Amino acid sequence: MSSADLVFRNALIVDGSGSPGFQGDVAVGGGEIIAVGEFDGEGTEEIDAAGRALTPGFIDIHTHFDPQLCWDSLATPSIEHGVTTVVTGNCSLSLAPVHKNGIAKVISMFEVIEDIKKRTFDAAVPFTWETFPEYLDHIREGLGINVSPLIGHSAIRLYVMGEDAQKRAAHPDEIEAMCAIVEEAMAAGALGISSSYVDIDENMDPVPSRFAELDEKIALCKAMAKSGRGVWQVVPFFPDPAQQLANIKELGEISRAAGVMCSLQPILSSPDSPNAQESIDALEEERAKGARVYGQVMPRCFDLNMRLSETSMLLYGLPGWKAIMDEPMPGRIASFADPDRRAALVEEMGKAAGMSAAIALLRVGAVKSATNEAYVGKTLMEIAASEGRSIGDIVLDIALADDLETEFQLKDVLNADKEAVAGLIDHPLCHFGASDAGAHITQFCGTGDTTHLLEYYVEKTGKMTLERAVHRMTGEVAKDWGLADRGLIAVGRPADLVLFDPHTVAVGDTVFRNDFPGEANRYIREGRGYDAVVINGEIVHRDGKYTEARPGRIV
Ligand SMILES: [Zn+2]
Repeated sequence: MSSADLVFRNALIVDGSGSPGFQGDVAVGGGEIIAVGEFDGEGTEEIDAAGRALTPGFIDIHTHFDPQLCWDSLATPSIEHGVTTVVTGNCSLSLAPVHKNGIAKVISMFEVIEDIKKRTFDAAVPFTWETFPEYLDHIREGLGINVSPLIGHSAIRLYVMGEDAQKRAAHPDEIEAMCAIVEEAMAAGALGISSSYVDIDENMDPVPSRFAELDEKIALCKAMAKSGRGVWQVVPFFPDPAQQLANIKELGEISRAAGVMCSLQPILSSPDSPNAQESIDALEEERAKGARVYGQVMPRCFDLNMRLSETSMLLYGLPGWKAIMDEPMPGRIASFADPDRRAALVEEMGKAAGMSAAIALLRVGAVKSATNEAYVGKTLMEIAASEGRSIGDIVLDIALADDLETEFQLKDVLNADKEAVAGLIDHPLCHFGASDAGAHITQFCGTGDTTHLLEYYVEKTGKMTLERAVHRMTGEVAKDWGLADRGLIAVGRPADLVLFDPHTVAVGDTVFRNDFPGEANRYIREGRGYDAVVINGEIVHRDGKYTEARPGRIV
C-alpha cells in the first residue's frame, strides 16, 4: 500500500484546467501531487473534504509585496484568500538592482507610487543587497508564500544610468549593460520585466522607465526572451484614453519584435470613458497582427479611501494640497489649518480635474470627532450643496476636526458596472488579477479579489462557473505568464492547493490596522470559507490560523 504525507478525501476537485470538476481524492507526498481521483493508500494526515472544493492555489499576477516580504514572508493577507503565488516587482519598481546611493530614490518612488511609507522601509527593509539575485537570496530565507518576481525597468535604469535615467534615452553601451542585468535576473528566477508609461516620482517627474525609447524596450525584451520565457508588464498612461491606445500599439510592436507576452494593467470599466471597450478593441487588433498583449482586470469596484493624515492619489493633481501632504504628520495639521493658505487651497480644489475631480464624490466614512458624526454617509457634494460652501472648505473643516484622520470613501464609481465587469473578467484577452496587493495600503486593500470572484460572480450571481473562475486564477495565468509547473492539480505538479466551501466563501470586513513596521497603517481584509491552504505540500493556513510551515519558493 502506498503512503502519502497528506490526503484530501472525497473533494470536489476543480483542477485548474477549466474542465468540469469531479469528486475524488488528492494525495500529496514530497511536496508534490502523487495521486488524483482515487488513492487507496494512507496519508500521515487525512482531511475529510466532503462538501468542499479543492483547487490549485491561486496566482496573483499583480502585487507590490517586494518590501513587505522583508518582514512578512507570508505576504499577509494573501494566503487567507487562497493565494499561493504572488508576482512582485510590478509597475517598473523593484528593490534591486540598487547602488547604495540609489536606495533613497527607490524608497521615495515606492512611497509616492505605491503608498508604502519611508519609515516602514527605514524600520524593516535592510537593503543588504545590490543585485537582483542578492535580493532574491535575501527573501528566499524562510519564505512562506511562493514568489515570482519581475525586475523593474525604472530600477534597472537608475542602477545603470544614475540621475540621467530621468533625463534622456539610453546610449547603446547603457542598453547593453541593462540587458546583462536582465539576463542575470532571469537566470536567478525572474519571471520578466515591468515598466510604466504613467508614474511620477516624489518631485512629480516621470519615473526612469518613461524616458526609454522603443529600441531600449525591445532590446530588454530580447535579452529576457533568451531565457525561453518572459513577461513585459506595464502601466499605461490611463488618464488619457488616446495615449493608452498608443501604448497598446507599442506593446504589440514589442511583443512581435521580441516574441514576448505583454501585460497592461488595469483595464477598468468607467462611466465617463469608453476606455475599456476601446482598449479591448486595440488588444484584439494587436492579437490579429500576431502579438500577445493582454489586459489585467479586477472583479471589484475600484473603491478607495482618502485620509489627509496618510497618502492620497486623488490629491496628486492639486500641487498646493500635494505639497502639504508631503509634510510629515503631525506638522501637516498646522499647515492645513493655516488661515493664510486656506483661500489658495479652496480655490485649487474648486478647479479639480482628472482623478482629483472624484473628490466631490467622496463620502464621509469613519470619523473621530462628535461634530463630524452628522456627516457620516454623505458625499462632499451633498454637504457643500446643503451648507452653501465649497468642497475645499468642507474637506478642510471635517478633516481638521479629526486631526486629519477622517476616512473619505470613494465607492461604486470606477469598475462599478457589474455587467460590464462580468464581461471584462471573462474576456480571453484579459488576465484576472489587477489587485495591486501590498500597495496603496492606506487607500484600499487589493488582496481579496480571488475571494470576491468566487463569492459574487460564481456563488451569488452565477455569472461564471466555478471551473472557469478557478481556471482564470490558476491554470490560465500559469500558462500565459510562464509559471509552467503551477496552476494545475495533476500528478507530478508542486502541491499548491486550496480547500474551501464554494457556498460560503466570502470577503470579510475591511479593517484599517496599525501593524506595519515604523508604526504605519494599512487596510486589510480577511477571507472566509477557506479550510486549508497548502504550499509546496505543506499546510500553511488552516481554519483561520497560520501554521509554522514556511515552504515558499522563488518560482
Ligand atoms: Zn502596480
